[in-house]
Amino acid sequence: MFNQNPVFIPGPTNIPEVIRNAYNIPTVDHRSGAFEGIIQPALAGVKKILKTEAGEVVIFPGSGTLGWEAAISNTLSAGDKVLAAAQGMFSEKWIEMCNRHGLDVQVHEVAWGEACPVDKYAETLKADTNHEIKAVLVTHNETATGVLSDVAAVRRAMDDAGHPALLFVDGVSSIGSMDFRMDEWGVDIAIAGSQKGFMLPTGLAIVGVSQKAIAVMDDADLPRFYYDIREMLAALKVSGYPYTPVVGLLNGLAKSTEILLDEGLDNVFARHHRIAEGVRTAVRAWGLEICAVDESTYSNSVTAILVPEGFDATALVNHASSKYHVSFGGGLGKVAGKVFRIGHLGSITDVMVLSGIATAEMAMVDLGLPITLGSGVAAAQEYYRTTA
Ligand SMILES: *Cc1c(COP(=O)(O)O)cnc(C)c1O
Repeated sequence: MFNQNPVFIPGPTNIPEVIRNAYNIPTVDHRSGAFEGIIQPALAGVKKILKTEAGEVVIFPGSGTLGWEAAISNTLSAGDKVLAAAQGMFSEKWIEMCNRHGLDVQVHEVAWGEACPVDKYAETLKADTNHEIKAVLVTHNETATGVLSDVAAVRRAMDDAGHPALLFVDGVSSIGSMDFRMDEWGVDIAIAGSQKGFMLPTGLAIVGVSQKAIAVMDDADLPRFYYDIREMLAALKVSGYPYTPVVGLLNGLAKSTEILLDEGLDNVFARHHRIAEGVRTAVRAWGLEICAVDESTYSNSVTAILVPEGFDATALVNHASSKYHVSFGGGLGKVAGKVFRIGHLGSITDVMVLSGIATAEMAMVDLGLPITLGSGVAAAQEYYRTTA
């Protein structure tokens, strides 16, 4: 069945027609001059969205997960110490990847729903006077819990400690939807994927790299081949690729960055904030709790909603999908069954998200939750009606 409903999952996100048209192109010989007209605007657009002038951008066939692997494999050696926080499924998977690469991960565990513990990072970095920690990992937006962490504060903690480690930031579900400042925050590797804020299908790992990160790559001994950043940079310099690129998606990326920049990044971020605030207003009207513990860490790209004890959030997600053909995000890992997630990033408007709120209400009432039909919708309508 052809389903015309939007999705409310935090990736892959809804794809605007203008972007679908941009990646639906005839075969382009990537070794011809025509490829330059595709790759260069894509790279330039990503640089503006990452807010980097000093850094470089590389784009691999793959997804966000490959970006994690590219970050660690290109810059670190077996046995190197890295600092990370376990705060949700995505941050935990990145830690597991580091373990499998033989890195020595110093993990700060926090409750799911809490942000990156900057104070604990600061203590650890200050205590590491021999500078054994080579990289600091931050998941900017933990998509499993809908929690935004403060990357600028992590940078301050590193600077206060005079610590020279590299700073790696997973921005897969924040970049292009919420403010991200690669140069200002001193981010050494920034990781994004095509299917979230960039509104494309899955298929590209988008990686920003600082000159400082590039400088350590020759000395780093973890093996890498397909995602060797040095080889990619050398090829991109002459508008080439070390292997066959995903040309259609790269053309889509050029278009996606163009439409984000045309809207204006501040307007994009304000739209995401307003849409998210309407969703949160609806959740409060339902009498439910948001998984993110601290209001100042609420994500504007995804809201994880706690369901009452004894109720199965997974059944809710399945029911919305089978009865109404609308997708919400389920609970992942430790919060499986305990939360459902409304993704509200990418190509989305207040009008679209009202339909998502309405559908969540129908599904909750169908399954016996004591929610009044229309309560969340009315609260969000009132919010959208009265805010610009
Ligand atoms: C989606 C996501 C990933 C994983 O990306 P894939 O594209 O699925 O490989 C990693 N981190 C975060 C925060 C994400 O939201």
